[in-house]
Amino acid sequence: MSEAEARPSNFIRQIIDKDLADGKHTSVHTRFPPEPNGYLHIGHAKSICLNFGIAQDYQGQCNLRFDDTNPEKEDVEYVESIKNDVSWLGFDWSGDICYSSNYFDKLYDYAVELINKGLAYVDELSPEQIREYRGSLTAPGKASPYRDRSAEDNLALFEKMRAGDFAEGKACLRAKIDMGSSFMVMRDPVLYRVRFAEHHQTGNKWCIYPMYDFTHCISDALEGITHSLCTLEFQDNRRLYDWVLENITIDCQPHQYEFSRLNLEYTVMSKRKLSQLVSENLVNGWDDPRMPTISGLRRRGFTPASIREFCKRIGVTKQENMIEFGSLESCIRDDLNENAPRAMSVLEPVKVVIDNFTADAVETLNIANHPNKPEMGSREVPFTRELWIERDDFREEANKKYKRLVLGKEVRLRGAYVIKAERIEKDAEGNITTIFCSYDDETLGKNPADGRKVKGVIHWVSADKGLPAQIRLYDRLFTVANPAAEDNFAATINPESLVELNGFVEPSLALATADQGYQFERTGYFCIDSKDSQPDALVFNRTVGLRDTWAKIETN
Ligand code: ATP
Ligand code: MG
Repeated sequence: MSEAEARPSNFIRQIIDKDLADGKHTSVHTRFPPEPNGYLHIGHAKSICLNFGIAQDYQGQCNLRFDDTNPEKEDVEYVESIKNDVSWLGFDWSGDICYSSNYFDKLYDYAVELINKGLAYVDELSPEQIREYRGSLTAPGKASPYRDRSAEDNLALFEKMRAGDFAEGKACLRAKIDMGSSFMVMRDPVLYRVRFAEHHQTGNKWCIYPMYDFTHCISDALEGITHSLCTLEFQDNRRLYDWVLENITIDCQPHQYEFSRLNLEYTVMSKRKLSQLVSENLVNGWDDPRMPTISGLRRRGFTPASIREFCKRIGVTKQENMIEFGSLESCIRDDLNENAPRAMSVLEPVKVVIDNFTADAVETLNIANHPNKPEMGSREVPFTRELWIERDDFREEANKKYKRLVLGKEVRLRGAYVIKAERIEKDAEGNITTIFCSYDDETLGKNPADGRKVKGVIHWVSADKGLPAQIRLYDRLFTVANPAAEDNFAATINPESLVELNGFVEPSLALATADQGYQFERTGYFCIDSKDSQPDALVFNRTVGLRDTWAKIETN
């Protein structure tokens, strides 16, 4: 079954099915409309999978539209990263990329149309006064003294706004709707404001910029969008969306439908907060692997399929909820368990010397890349007299539950021989520096001939041939489940969200590329860090552990 066939229905798909059945539409046209003021995050992935997924499944179209009406906060860096992230997630937009700024001329004409109809006016109240006059949920708004100017005066004033004759905040264009409306958005919303800012697409052509509510509905209509899908906070704005389209001369009448945002535990999802983490250097950039951004998740080792699967599992509803971080992790774990080749790395090494193995000899072992998938082949792993094992995998004394290496006892080295710890050497502080072992050369790929049982299996890396690597272990970025609810969310950053270790990896990993995840035997899933790893200074990121250790901690 293909991914698309497996996609479950939701209330939006039911609306579309009905619209098609009723003949209201003959095809479906959606859009994904990010504002290029930050990098995309996993919440945007939900919207991307919804909009592009619908277009795919209904053989319709989905536009990528940059909703670029705030020149001060936007940048082409964000435009480029967004295009890249959408493509990486596996989606193609229909036709050319769209920009709301492409429609600035048309939007201006529509504003003039509203003025001519007596439905918009130039207001010279200050932004503070406008806020004050707007009233509140319990108090009606108050009309601006400029509300009843003639269409002629308003046209001339709007033209002056465009010509740059008003300073910022000295004039704006407002829709003339209803200052007593129970919907705050309908109390004469601002349609245009003055901003002397250079725009990343239109340069210095404009010093007035249209507001989101005026721009979005018209952009949708101009592009022939049938179903305009957005998050619940725009529910009230739907009144204004419809009002604008009903009062201008435009053919298409798209409809807005709202669904709940994705909220994920132990992270923040607003671009403003993510941007603060970046600008205050609380993380290492937008693509820090701890960030919930698409670029951060990619660098952490998430695959596009795992993110699409996550979006499928969470579904689309109108209920606000908070998703456990573990559900995102289980999607990538399921994917990598199936598809990641196995390899060995030692994260916190201690030296093993095998006394009875010839010094300088190198035995090449062939080890399967996946325990259940012979089609994934095998690789060569060198075995030498000196090895690294995890410090944690050795104890001087232990009870039977400890199935690793114990002084005087045996353990199997994964894919290699059974070894026995004979004696140890310690430094002046009492730390073990070397574990001297013997090996049973009859045990490669088979049990000891005399029938004795060796239960434990540990991983290892050749000390002579293994490669040093920095290993980055990531944990939740915040210590509280809902950092956005904190007064100072940045103060709840988890100081242990990044732990750097100096370990060793088997030599086959010299050829690892950033887009290939590995299961490091017994330690988790890892990938090359796409930014910092160098051929002679490897850096690996832990994508996710083998099991959901977090869930265990919380229930204990
Ligand atoms: P943020 O609050 O993170 O800044 P935004 O809504 O301002 O997000 P936009 O660039 O305007 O970001 O969003 C583009 C589209 O993605 C919108 O349709 C928006 O509704 C949707 N979107 C944004 N955040 C989420 C989320 N957490 N879950 C689902 N959809 C989202
Ligand atoms: Mg926005």
